[in-house]
Amino acid sequence: MRHRRAPRTLFGRALIRAELTVKTPGIQRVPFWSREAIDRLATKRLVDTVDMACRHVPWYHERMEAGELHPEDIRSPADLERWPTVGLHQLHDEPLSMLSDQWKPDECIEILSSGSSGHRKTVYLEPNTFLANAVYQTRSRPIITALAGQFRGLRTLIMAPLASNEQRLRVMYGEWLAMRPARHPIPRINNFAPFEEKLAEVNRIKPDVVSGVTGVVSSFFMEVLDRGVDCHRPKLLKLSVEGFARGHRERIEKELGIPAVMGYASSESTKIGFECEERNGYHIHEDFCLLRIVDDDSRGLPEGEVGRVVITNLVNRATMLINYHQGDRGYVTGEPCPCGRTFSRVFLTQSKETPLLKAPNGRIVHYADLLRPIVTKPEFVRLQVVVESPDFWRILIESEDPDVSKAWVSTITDPLKEWTEGTVRLAVEFTRDFEMSPISGKQSPVIIRDAQ
Ligand SMILES: [Zn+2]
Repeated sequence: MRHRRAPRTLFGRALIRAELTVKTPGIQRVPFWSREAIDRLATKRLVDTVDMACRHVPWYHERMEAGELHPEDIRSPADLERWPTVGLHQLHDEPLSMLSDQWKPDECIEILSSGSSGHRKTVYLEPNTFLANAVYQTRSRPIITALAGQFRGLRTLIMAPLASNEQRLRVMYGEWLAMRPARHPIPRINNFAPFEEKLAEVNRIKPDVVSGVTGVVSSFFMEVLDRGVDCHRPKLLKLSVEGFARGHRERIEKELGIPAVMGYASSESTKIGFECEERNGYHIHEDFCLLRIVDDDSRGLPEGEVGRVVITNLVNRATMLINYHQGDRGYVTGEPCPCGRTFSRVFLTQSKETPLLKAPNGRIVHYADLLRPIVTKPEFVRLQVVVESPDFWRILIESEDPDVSKAWVSTITDPLKEWTEGTVRLAVEFTRDFEMSPISGKQSPVIIRDAQ
């Protein structure tokens, strides 16, 4: 990756510096600003985003040239109602059409991931967006302090699939900043280890904070509850990527006394929202990401009404997304939160929740682990796992060239056979005929036929 700054970025180094260094009493950080001040900042960034996108991003530029889009129409976030929406298929079919001509793919951090339907999508992050992460950290500091009793010196343990985007991002930021690897890297639990081994690790490390992917972490603590075993209790679970399965959060918090705090993030917009000390909805990072709720015809819905989540990223100047269908459903409220933050809150009614794959030998596999060996292949379109019964899994793959893709079969099944110790019969099929989830009616990357 070459080092280069965006020719023009409104990301606001000065503002970030202010937010990172503000110590003067009476000077508020952005989430506590007045409504007017937040709206002013968001509007300024939105107008600039639209202007940049129309000049430099092919998808927007072509429509502007054809007279279909008028950047001058957007003078405030409310005007986004008149702007077209973009869906996941655009990032799958033509990811370069959403990339600014001011950035080359090899200058960016490339994020490959699967959408809620299991489709592959590509997002390019401008390296400058790593600064946003520093700001997110400062925003989480008072919340972690309130819930865990301290911020510094917390012992953290990670529970996540092997190659999560978050881990890749951390490595890439490190390279970009030419940082030396940490002397004491954060310990990580081997996702494929049997439950007893994970339990022994947790009891040995005694973490204050367990950080990771919701499904992986919650399934471990649910197993602790179900088996009634003695397990070290961390002060806090710091989770993101997907929602909790119904009832899991309540049981872990009540019966084990471990609070969880969630982040709302996506590969398209990195961080979108965060839970505060109240843990009642996600405050939207409104200075980085605008969030609207629309109906199925992409018409804006009023506060409190449930609809589809559409986001506009105000930070990333590489892949630029204005009115992007995030794939979640929820509603927004501007009602004041007892924490005092002014940022509006979004409540998700349906978030991407990928069921874990549990083999009869007790090993647990996350969908992302199956995806990892093939997601970067150019012919790959999407993948779905259908668990017909605990010991029979069908792996459906859509590929643009099934003949070439036959070679993928063993790269997926060989490690799976090892993890599941032959307790699962595997069938790999190349098809375009994917199944809908009987629960959500949407295409889900994992479908579990039998309750396990
Ligand atoms: Zn709050």
